[in-house]
Amino acid sequence: MPMIRYFTDHAWLGGAQADADVLIEVAGERISAIRTGVERPPDATHLPGLTLPGMANSHSHAFHRALRGRTHRSGGTFWTWREDMYTVAAVLTPDSYYALALATYAEMALAGITCVGEFHYLHHGPGGVPHAGANVVGEALLAAARDAGIRITLLDACYLSGGIGEQLQGPQLRFGDGDAAAWADRVSALTDDDHVRIGAAIHSVRAVQADQLTTVTQWAQERQAPLHFHLSEQRAENEACLAAHGCTPAQLIGDHGGLGPLSTAVHATHLTSRDIGLLGESATTICMCPTTERDLADGIGPARTLADGGAPLSLGSDSNAVIDLFEETRAVELDERLASERRGHWGAAELLRAATSDGHRSLGWPEAGSLTVGALADFVTVGLGSVRLAGAEPATLLESLVFAAGAADVQDVVVGGRRVVARGHHLLVDDVAGDLTSAIRAVLPWPAC
Ligand SMILES: [Zn+2]
Repeated sequence: MPMIRYFTDHAWLGGAQADADVLIEVAGERISAIRTGVERPPDATHLPGLTLPGMANSHSHAFHRALRGRTHRSGGTFWTWREDMYTVAAVLTPDSYYALALATYAEMALAGITCVGEFHYLHHGPGGVPHAGANVVGEALLAAARDAGIRITLLDACYLSGGIGEQLQGPQLRFGDGDAAAWADRVSALTDDDHVRIGAAIHSVRAVQADQLTTVTQWAQERQAPLHFHLSEQRAENEACLAAHGCTPAQLIGDHGGLGPLSTAVHATHLTSRDIGLLGESATTICMCPTTERDLADGIGPARTLADGGAPLSLGSDSNAVIDLFEETRAVELDERLASERRGHWGAAELLRAATSDGHRSLGWPEAGSLTVGALADFVTVGLGSVRLAGAEPATLLESLVFAAGAADVQDVVVGGRRVVARGHHLLVDDVAGDLTSAIRAVLPWPAC
């Protein structure tokens, strides 16, 4: 098996500080040795800067990338934003979605994301008419991730109703499988491979009727697959759930077997103390998406209280209005400061664990997300020469990374031992910005002038 050696000036191996002068040996797709404090061997590829495990973006809707800027010129609410989102959902084809997802995942790779959790619900053609291949859209997303050089967990979402007690209508018809049994039949045809995991998703308690929930949770349990669901992002969802079922969304999903260590609750913004107890005691992971939660005026979820109660944290770019996991990490701490008027809720290493090992575990990749022998050789090097990071000192490199770095500081990305990004340039997708522009114009034509 061919061996590749990478030498990096600093590496975060999981502790409170980075180590210096680190040699990482890779055999096949995995890390075979790590040595610290060594001289740079002449045959090793030099990764200048600070190397950390590849980051996991635990919650993405790739097509929302087309809305960046377009939904920011006026006010409104989560619900008016959702109408804008439906305009893109209405026009995507498998081909145009492939092009948009490829460019979006390439942007993620440039930002140091080596694995994406794609929460996918745009399953069918206009009017809900099935495509010739039932999973043709999901397969386009798997191909897009492969071609962008990153891993993907396709979280195939069951989405059956337009709200509690409401039929799907308009563009929502494309999301629906009819019932959870038909959803399960369709998803069961998808399979894992070296860069793919298949997981389940309940879009939300708004979108899956209570009597359909167990079919989805059992499908995931039988396969030991990840199960993700949007949870209590908006107060209106809680109120509708209480009115219809007499309990909160967390209780409803818990009563149907949806909480546990393979489950991830996305947002978890508006929770009761009982909800927090249920999520923590079941070790359900929480996926916070702070840049999206800010953008949609959702509120600030109780991340620290949840983590203290046993619910690990992961992070997602969700609407992809921003693709920068450093921004997501610091937002968890900084938002909590604003809410509590107190500093110091999260350490830098804890936030980096959310972006790396805990994120990967939530996506069904426990063998990725750490710089350890035997782990998948997925890692990212942040250059320390930009104006943002100039002057960073070795003892506080992790703090510099979390509180000052941006996606543009990512210089090198290795996935499965293979270099995908070198010196800030994507090696598989030559013109990511140009491809994003043309993919977005294809689905949202600019007004003729
Ligand atoms: Zn979402």
